[in-house]
Amino acid sequence: MVEKIAAQETEYTLYYGTFVHTPTLGKLEILKYTLVGVDKSGTIDFMKQDVHNEVQDIGVLSFYKQETKRTVSTSSIKVVDISNEQLKFFLPGFIDTHIHASQYPNLGVGLGCPLLEWLNEYTFPLESSFTENNREEKLAFAQDVYSKVVKKTLVCGTTCASYFATIDADTTRLLADLCLEAGQRAFVGKVCMDDNSVYPEYQEDYDTCVKSMEEVNSHIESINPKSEVLVKPIVTPRFAPVCSRKLLSYLGSLADEKNLPVQTHLSENTKEIELVRTLFPECKNYTSVYDDYHLLKDTTILAHSIHLDNDECNLIQKKGSTIAHCPMSNSFISSGESPVKKYLYKYNINVSLGTDVSGGFKPSILETVKHSILASQHLHMHTKHESFDPRLTVADTIYMATMGGATGVGLQNVVGSFAVGKKWDTQLIELDSSDSNIDIFGWNDRFLDGTKESVIKYYTNLLNIWVFTGDDRNCTKVWCNGRKVIDKSKQGAGMTAINN
Ligand SMILES: [Zn+2]
Repeated sequence: MVEKIAAQETEYTLYYGTFVHTPTLGKLEILKYTLVGVDKSGTIDFMKQDVHNEVQDIGVLSFYKQETKRTVSTSSIKVVDISNEQLKFFLPGFIDTHIHASQYPNLGVGLGCPLLEWLNEYTFPLESSFTENNREEKLAFAQDVYSKVVKKTLVCGTTCASYFATIDADTTRLLADLCLEAGQRAFVGKVCMDDNSVYPEYQEDYDTCVKSMEEVNSHIESINPKSEVLVKPIVTPRFAPVCSRKLLSYLGSLADEKNLPVQTHLSENTKEIELVRTLFPECKNYTSVYDDYHLLKDTTILAHSIHLDNDECNLIQKKGSTIAHCPMSNSFISSGESPVKKYLYKYNINVSLGTDVSGGFKPSILETVKHSILASQHLHMHTKHESFDPRLTVADTIYMATMGGATGVGLQNVVGSFAVGKKWDTQLIELDSSDSNIDIFGWNDRFLDGTKESVIKYYTNLLNIWVFTGDDRNCTKVWCNGRKVIDKSKQGAGMTAINN
């Protein structure tokens, strides 16, 4: 049995250096010479900005003791000091709010194939292989796929993921075990679908689904260490076209009764929308199908949501649900350009990011950030006549990748930014990491003239350089709940870059 990282003890640690985060939408905060203390439970219990002069005089530990008046032995505190490193900064861990763990072997295939055909051609056959073999074979296959996807997302700085598994209960339980083993915060959803007439080989009957949900949910609730909940179940109707009314009713009641979050797909493709209109003629629109079955909550993640009308936007806003923007997938299988900026600023809807593996071709939220910005530029190019400018900024997308994601999974008070009381789910970004793809020039240093404005200008440029030219090789360490779960400086860590 592999030791679960989530069960390991941590030591009190002081992190000192530059912190970058977006606690509010569109606003990037760059906190230079900031000292953050993280206790043994992984919670930030001390944070002070701009302490350069004091620390320079008496050192990190003495300053900390003086400030907190704590009588702790200095040998019991670990210090991570990157304060003199201009090209390194701490960033909240990424939150991937839409990823199909089971589709990981299909990365990169299916270019341009429209959604409904893509499901039948690529997705349902792959997901079936998690169900149709004997128990031993399917568990071996799932072990291989799921352990790789959990490791790869962590390597890319994803400290929390909301996973779709498959309809199979045994292998979905295994996915939850593997997240915990790797120390990743996760929401694990057994896919629910009982009406897949176009691909009948991959579906379950209503009674089997109910039984599997009970099994999976009670398993996940039982595996977390007593002191913390790192992995949670999430109610996962695949999407309305493959769910009976009876199943949707059951899932809505289950989410209400057990206070569980929900994830599903919405309005990804125009043919899909037509199909929903035919299948649910009694519902006002696609979004109201979910609302009619009590599935629209303030912890509901609606993946894609590209082609929404005004009523649907207002309904989502009213319910406090989150749209998971999946630009890589939206481009790859030609679903459309989502007007995300409008959702964020005109409708005040919370928007997060999703890689949507394998509609998206990389399990990286940094790549998703790039695609978000570029897709919004394309939208702008052919909607210039409209008054609303759809272009996203880097700050908008970093927000969606961190705080927007945290809000989507109901953890806005737990992760997503740096603050006392929040958990230390963090990545260390090094533009000059040993295998970095980024060539660094002193050209950017001209902005540093000692003023606060110059620091903001410098780091804004640095962040842009990282977003557009960096990759997972620049994410050198990752912590979840205070524990270091990735350390690429350690030999044999097996952390190869995905962009090599
Ligand atoms: Zn999806």
